[in-house]
Amino acid sequence: MARAPDTLTLHPASTLAVRDGRVASFDLEGRLLTYFEEGVLYKRALDSRVHARRRVGGRRERFLLSEEAALWVFQRAREVAEHYLPGARGAARDRLRAILAWTPERLLAERERFSRVYKPIAILPPDRYFTIVLQATEGCTWNRCTFCSFYSGRPFSAKDLETFARHARAVRDFLGKNALLRRDLFLADGNALALSLGRLLPLLQTAREVFPGRPVYSFIDVYSGERHQGAFWRALKEAGLRGVYVGMETGHDPLLAWLNKPGSQEELLEFVRTLKAAGLFVGLIVMVGAGGDRFREAHFQDTLKALAAMPLAPSDIVFLSPFVEDPRSVYRLRREAEGIRSLGEEETRLELERFAWAIRGLGLRAARYDIREFLY
Ligand code: SF4
Repeated sequence: MARAPDTLTLHPASTLAVRDGRVASFDLEGRLLTYFEEGVLYKRALDSRVHARRRVGGRRERFLLSEEAALWVFQRAREVAEHYLPGARGAARDRLRAILAWTPERLLAERERFSRVYKPIAILPPDRYFTIVLQATEGCTWNRCTFCSFYSGRPFSAKDLETFARHARAVRDFLGKNALLRRDLFLADGNALALSLGRLLPLLQTAREVFPGRPVYSFIDVYSGERHQGAFWRALKEAGLRGVYVGMETGHDPLLAWLNKPGSQEELLEFVRTLKAAGLFVGLIVMVGAGGDRFREAHFQDTLKALAAMPLAPSDIVFLSPFVEDPRSVYRLRREAEGIRSLGEEETRLELERFAWAIRGLGLRAARYDIREFLY
């Protein structure tokens, strides 16, 4: 592959510096966004943890860097920008000065600033990694699905309006000009939309006052969502909600029950109808490989059947998430006790292809959702 030429490019919301095949991008505050060197792509999360990705023998590998390795990445990226300083004038000089003001140690210290603004952010949908997260609630209202450890040890709680407004302003200060890169809002954590309309409307209004003009997205599970009527969803749409992401997991009710997740396909279908009638985008998440070999075929068949019955639009998305088993989970204990075999890597890959092909055959959009690549 041809190497990118050495350049410094000022984009409206970021800066890109390339030198000797090394590529670094920075936000308008001068903080590192991504760095590429020797076939490895490094991405800095807002809390300054660095995720790395590379291809080894046709397989994608990903890993989280130690603090020491993160400091090395920050320094290497900084050097790429530094090269352009002597010849830079005007806006380019200003941007480079902002970048160079971030010593590796100062950039690493963003971790503390992040933790003053946010509680840990467990997960986001894959097309919202570049959103602005606002934590209206913490944890999940259910927290008992056997496979899920996203919010373990964090009981569900909701912020009052004043606390939420303070949080939103703190997020704005923390992001600074980085917010220019982020075009929408995500109301977190799990199931924030379980709150009543009376609580949600002022929260949405505040969120959009602090970050004007941005549409809002959120997670919701069927058992919480179905309690709300059409008028609830229409009112939220009116207030700026653009779409919701629903953890469908499977269309096979016995598997859903085995995963200890409330709800059924009948309820999900009714819920999706309500959401679509309110004019909302719907993202459905299906866990490919959940339930191992015992549920493999029924999971596939019933999920397809359930999706085919839904009034989904071409813009809606079915996210196919390769199942990742948490070794400390109740899921693991139950699977082993019942002698169920997990699908191997190759089997899961084939299953993902089978799901994607069948879903596209229904005229729907399918996209991959690997929770191991989550980054905010
Ligand atoms: S409802 Fe969603 S967030 Fe809550 S425990 Fe189940 S999978 Fe996890």
